[in-house]
Amino acid sequence: ATHFKIDGLKAEIEGKEILKGINLEIKGGEIHAIMGPNGTGKSTLASALMGHPKYEVTEGAVELDGEDVLEMAVDERARAGLFLGMQYPSEITGVTNSDFLRSAINARREEGKEISLIKFIRLMEGKMKELDMNPEFAHRYLNEGFSGGEKKRNEILQMMMIDPKLVILDEIDSGLDIDALKIVANGVNAMRSEDRGFLIITHYQRLLDYITPDFVHVMMQGRIVKSGGPELAARLESEGYDWVKEELGIVD
Ligand code: ADP
Ligand code: MG
Ligand code: MG
Repeated sequence: ATHFKIDGLKAEIEGKEILKGINLEIKGGEIHAIMGPNGTGKSTLASALMGHPKYEVTEGAVELDGEDVLEMAVDERARAGLFLGMQYPSEITGVTNSDFLRSAINARREEGKEISLIKFIRLMEGKMKELDMNPEFAHRYLNEGFSGGEKKRNEILQMMMIDPKLVILDEIDSGLDIDALKIVANGVNAMRSEDRGFLIITHYQRLLDYITPDFVHVMMQGRIVKSGGPELAARLESEGYDWVKEELGIVD
């Protein structure tokens, strides 16, 4: 089973410390949700884990199945099984969705064991159907001219095709209507397995009505300040974050 561990992670952007010591352990089969007010460093955490060059890790350790993630280059992290689905994925002109997916899948495979074209097409068509996506999206340039909802559905398509060990979804639910939200949630639920952990970053509890997390963490000012179960998300939804601040004596 997969085992992912973040230990005392600190990171800064342009000399400003954003992550101030994050500790988090995710085992295969578990879904963890991170909630928190805007600007507390949730996206910074996702980007730092993926190795985005803008974020400098200054302290701490990250391990995936005993391997040192921070030592890996960006493409090595993807190959090792880290996946980030984003709110605003990049548009890439000249690369079709299916080309991108096929090379992403093959990057996770050993040389000589690449997926055959026929298998790939069958897999992609099946997943696109599950996600209720128009088949023409396979041949469109990656995210170019996709609506917000289409981009997010496409991020979930990537997740389903790439078969990662650790899935990070950063506000994948924002701006989705209820039908799209359910499709995204079904995709995640179908991917739940002992070989995969999930870190779902969300501003709203809404998504967690459809994906039941095992653990909910509250992030404030670059730290996880409180952890609990799904009931914590429900309380944050109804009461906001002020009570957490009061309870912990956080001043902003
Ligand atoms: P969240 O995802 O929780 O809303 P972010 O991780 O996006 O928070 O941002 C955390 C803090 O880092 C904010 O104060 C934000 O202004 C700052 N920040 C994020 N990205 C950058 C960047 N590229 N350059 C400078 N500051 C940034
Ligand atoms: Mg934000
Ligand atoms: Mg964010």
